[in-house]
Amino acid sequence: GLFRGKGDKMKSSELFQRAKKVMPGGVNSPVRAFGAVGGDPVFIKRGFGSRVWDEDGNEYIDYVLSWGPLILGHSHPAVVEALKRQAELGTSFGACTELEVLLAEKIREAVPSMEVVRMVNSGTEATMSAIRLARGYTGRNLIVKFAGCYHGHSDSLLIRAGSGLITYGIPDSGGVPEDTARLTLVARYNDVDMLEEIFEEKGPDIAAVIVEPVAGNMGVVPPEEDFLRALRELPRKYGALLIFDEVITGFRVSYSGAQGYYGIEPDLTTLGKIIGGGLPVGVYGGREDIMRCVSPDGPVYQAGTLSGNPLAMAAGLTTLEVLSKNPGLYDELDRRAERLCSGFKEVMEDAGIPVTVNRVCSMMTVFFTGEKVRNYDTAVKSDTRLYAVFFREMLKQGVYLPPAQFEAFFLSAAHSDEDIKKTIEAAWNAAKNLKKN
Ligand code: PMP
Repeated sequence: GLFRGKGDKMKSSELFQRAKKVMPGGVNSPVRAFGAVGGDPVFIKRGFGSRVWDEDGNEYIDYVLSWGPLILGHSHPAVVEALKRQAELGTSFGACTELEVLLAEKIREAVPSMEVVRMVNSGTEATMSAIRLARGYTGRNLIVKFAGCYHGHSDSLLIRAGSGLITYGIPDSGGVPEDTARLTLVARYNDVDMLEEIFEEKGPDIAAVIVEPVAGNMGVVPPEEDFLRALRELPRKYGALLIFDEVITGFRVSYSGAQGYYGIEPDLTTLGKIIGGGLPVGVYGGREDIMRCVSPDGPVYQAGTLSGNPLAMAAGLTTLEVLSKNPGLYDELDRRAERLCSGFKEVMEDAGIPVTVNRVCSMMTVFFTGEKVRNYDTAVKSDTRLYAVFFREMLKQGVYLPPAQFEAFFLSAAHSDEDIKKTIEAAWNAAKNLKKN
C-alpha cells in the first residue's frame, strides 16, 4: 500500500481517549470525531504538500486540506517564510497595519464586487456580520437560505428545512431561540419556483438571500443556470440583497470565485478559508454604499480584537500572491480533478456500485447514489453506510477523505498526477471490498 508507517493507530487512539475526557466528543469541531464513518479519528502531527502524517507515523494523501483553505498544499514554503518573518515582527497589535490594506486591495482586485471589505476571524463571523449588515441596510428582518447550505454556526443560519413548501425556520440546533429561527425562511437549492413563491409571499420583508454559489456542505452541488439567474433577479426586484457565501468557493473555483466563474455579481460576499492561507480569517464585503453602514462609518456594529491579525494577513496575502502569479494553476487543478473524478466513476462502474460524482473545478463529491444530486433532498438519498466503508478502506491505504458523505473533497496545487494515480488505485481496492458489503 501507500503507507510509509506501520499502519497502526495506537497513539491516535490513546490521544482520542484523553481528548474525550476534556472536550465534547474529543474534538473542537464535530465532524472531526469520525462519528459518520466510525473508528477513532486520526491525530495529525505534520503536513507537507499533498501529504499529512499522523501521530503514529502513517502517511496520507490529504483531500480534506483543512476543509478547503490549503489550495497550495500544506506548509507551502512561501507561506511558511511569510509567517516566520511576521512572527519576528509581532503577532498582534490590535492596531492598523499595512498588511490589512494590502490584503483588502488584493481581494478587491480579484473580486471587483467587493469594493469595501471588513476582515474578521472565521467564516461564521463573516456570514453572521453580513446578515446583520443586510438587516441594518434594508431595515428588514427576514432572511432566505437554502436547505443543505451551511454558513457557519450563528443562530440565524443554523436552520435547515425538511422537504416541503415554504418553511419557517425550525431550529436544527438546540439553543437557537424560536423567535430567531422564525426569521429564517428555508428554500430548496436549484428550485426557482419555490424561491419565487417565497418572494411573492414575503418579498417586502426579506433583507437578504444567502447562498453557497456552489454548494459544498451537502456534498458538492453545482448551481443550475436558471437558479443563478433567479438568485440575482428576485432579490433585486424586491429590494433585498444577494449574499454569496464564498467561504469555500472564493479563490477555489477561480481566482475571482464563483461570481467570476459564473459571471454573477452579488451585493455582498463572504470569504474565509483560502484568504487566510491556513490561518483563521473571514471577510465580508461588497457594494460601497452598503459597506458604509458598518461602524465606524455607519450604525451597524461589528468589531474584533484579533481582526486583521498580522500573521493571518501575511499567510493570506502570500497565498493570493502565489495564486495570482500562476494563472495556469486553476486549469491544472481542473484537469487533475477531472482525472480523479473519472477514475472514481470508472472504478465504481466496474464494481457495479452506483455513484454520482459532482464537481466544480477542484471541489468534488462522490455520492453513493445513482440518482442525480441537485439539492438536499437528492443528496440525502446517498448510502452513507457505503460511504463510511469507502472512507475506512481509503484511510487504510493512506488516502484521507472527508470523514462524512456530505462534504467536499478538495485538490491542491501540490497534488501530483502520481497522487491521483495512487488514489484511483486505492479506490479500485476499496471498491472490491465495497462489493462484499
Ligand atoms: N460558509 C461556508 C460556505 C462554509 O463552508 C463554512 C465552513 N465550512 C462557513 C461558512 C463557516 O466558516 P468557519 O468554519 O470558518 O466559521
